Amino acid sequence: MIGAVDIGGTKIAVGMVDGRGQVRSKMEAPTGIDSKYSEGVQQIGQMLRKTAHKAGVKITGIGIGSTGPVDPFTGEFGEVDFLPDWRHQNPVKDLARMFKVKAALENDADAGALAEAAWGAGQKKRRLIYVTVGTGIGGAIVLDGKLYRGVDGAHPEFGHHVIDPSGPVCSCGVRGCWESLAAGPAMVGWVERESSANYPHRSGLSARRICELARDGDALATRAVERETHYLGLGLANLVNLFAPDVIVLGGSVMKSAVLFLEGIRKTIVRNCRFVPFEETEIVLASLGEDSNLIGAARVWQHRFGRS
Ligand SMILES: [Zn+2]
Repeated sequence: MIGAVDIGGTKIAVGMVDGRGQVRSKMEAPTGIDSKYSEGVQQIGQMLRKTAHKAGVKITGIGIGSTGPVDPFTGEFGEVDFLPDWRHQNPVKDLARMFKVKAALENDADAGALAEAAWGAGQKKRRLIYVTVGTGIGGAIVLDGKLYRGVDGAHPEFGHHVIDPSGPVCSCGVRGCWESLAAGPAMVGWVERESSANYPHRSGLSARRICELARDGDALATRAVERETHYLGLGLANLVNLFAPDVIVLGGSVMKSAVLFLEGIRKTIVRNCRFVPFEETEIVLASLGEDSNLIGAARVWQHRFGRS
């Protein structure tokens, strides 16, 4: 039984996940920018004990998925701006010592990709690309069940490939990254810029709200969805051209409204891809739902230490 730990900017989820990717028990706790690492890791330890007790199981390994940057080989956090006190701390070593089991850590997009490849929408696909669209755009590549790693273990950054060099400045400082054009905040920013002062939906805007408004026929929100579809499609067509994968699995909060985007995305792929068999690349939605990151964290352990 794997103790799974999903560390995000606003919450930590912990659960017991069995060898087939089934969540047997889980709990979560809020976290935030002023979270102290020493308290955080103790809390994770307690949550692991509680969820193991609840499921009536013994923890045989610990898998961790975390929003990055993290070093999967040392287990150390990098310059994480969402949890400043956690920088350069090592939850892999600390939790392994606490529970006397092996532990492994990956970036959460890598964890999500491994889970979808093993137990979700990407099962039995040799070349899988996972793209998650939410507050940012992340992704990962899984080839024959193994995570693709770049030089020195680097994690690919799909969200920062440039779609429009004259586009908005991205959080990374470059203009027109995919993330700056197609992540959730990009939708919100565009509607805020384009709407007049008397637009009735200005307060409390979110990507999800914009999608709801588009469904209800709001003209500006409909244009925002068309723009989102256009930029999602361009980035995904680039991935098809670059990698010709068997499948692209789409996850993340913005993709909860995927029904609004999918047809347009497919049209852009058809229009932009010529010399690769684009019609053989399936574009599908992630299937593991709310628990995908937790299930992914468990798969991180199996991927590192398991036989399959
Ligand atoms: Zn960028």
